[in-house]
Amino acid sequence: MSHFQYQNGALHAERVSLSAIAAQFGSPTYVYSKAALLENFGAYADACQGRDALVCYAMKANSNLAILDLLARAGAGFDIVSGGELLRVIAAGGDPGKTIFSGVGKTVEEMRLALEKNILCFNVESIPELHRLNEVAGSMGRRAPVSLRVNPNVDAKTHPYIATGLKANKFGVAFDDALQTYRSAAALPHLDVVGIDCHIGSQLLDDAPLLEALDKLIELIDTLADEGIHLHHLDIGGGLGVNYGAEGDQPPVPVGDYLGRLFARIDAWRAGRHGGQPIKVIFEPGRSIVADTGVLLTRIEFLKPGVEKNFAIVDAAMNDLMRPTLYQAWMGVQPVVPREGDKLTYDVVGPVCESGDWLARERDLAVAPGDLLAIMTAGAYGMTMASNYNTRGRAAEVMVDGDRVQLIRQREHPADLFALESMLE
Ligand SMILES: *Cc1c(COP(=O)(O)O)cnc(C)c1O
Repeated sequence: MSHFQYQNGALHAERVSLSAIAAQFGSPTYVYSKAALLENFGAYADACQGRDALVCYAMKANSNLAILDLLARAGAGFDIVSGGELLRVIAAGGDPGKTIFSGVGKTVEEMRLALEKNILCFNVESIPELHRLNEVAGSMGRRAPVSLRVNPNVDAKTHPYIATGLKANKFGVAFDDALQTYRSAAALPHLDVVGIDCHIGSQLLDDAPLLEALDKLIELIDTLADEGIHLHHLDIGGGLGVNYGAEGDQPPVPVGDYLGRLFARIDAWRAGRHGGQPIKVIFEPGRSIVADTGVLLTRIEFLKPGVEKNFAIVDAAMNDLMRPTLYQAWMGVQPVVPREGDKLTYDVVGPVCESGDWLARERDLAVAPGDLLAIMTAGAYGMTMASNYNTRGRAAEVMVDGDRVQLIRQREHPADLFALESMLE
């Protein structure tokens, strides 16, 4: 059940009305539900019960410290893509020992920081990166735990910007080159080859491509074992989709169903290998943990009727929420206090000076200036992708817990935005 429901004529987050939140904190504001967050993480945790498995939340989806803290306390590890994200994990009380480091362009400084903090594993994406990591670890008198991100060349059938497992993508080591790359890695003196990983894309509604990728990883793990390279973990990445609510959309496969099928295959494989050692399974979910835990609350400034289109101009913009313009993503729009009357078809747009500044197109709404709207399912890749374009301070973030609401990030003010700038002397 969604934690964003209408009660007494107003949309609520858990037991707090979004109107009250707008009155207290202003708009635009990201509003999150703690119960939704813990429920989503719980779906993974329950499916992993009693198994050697680790859920490393892909924090680029939403890296607010309050969210990281709640997930860390629930037992999550983290999937990071920068040194900055590692510092966030630590600031939030997360465990670097449960943290894996993904990404194609890790710098020397980032590698050094991650080694100092004893992260669980580096997900390495290329041969030059292997050599750099080997050198950095050697210079510190250390060995770096590594996993190779293999590109299984599986078509995830998702938007081209979020498909990552095809040959044409910048990510990972090509499947056909993986064996040779593992041999190179195993020969480097300051690396410990411990795992294998992949991440084939995002917003996958079906688990068939994920299970296909699993089969290819399994095949490779067996080949490596025959060569004397024994892996201790298998990381299948993230990518499970969510329901954004567009008409005719296919619902995503439930987390428990997907993990059930995945573990069944792994169990059958391990049982089939004579004396096969158990293998730790790692997941890197982002969107499926946070997307439906948040909405972006925004107020209508003006209604502007047009010849071809009507516009509802709101106080949130593409700088607050990039997904619509970046991925042509469809996001639900709900009036916080629905009103009677005839609906008109609107494009919901922001004040930024770009025609690409839209949040939703062709929505039938009965609205008036000053009304509040909620952009639904905005908890993932919302605030983390926000910018300061047009010298707009980023939105406030609040979290609701039952009937309580707490500010978890202050709204930015213009002076914050140019504080690091200086004029020529
Ligand atoms: C973004 C990303 C994820 C999370 O993807 P979701 O689709 O949000 O689950 C996991 N692993 C890697 C390497 C990523 O880049």
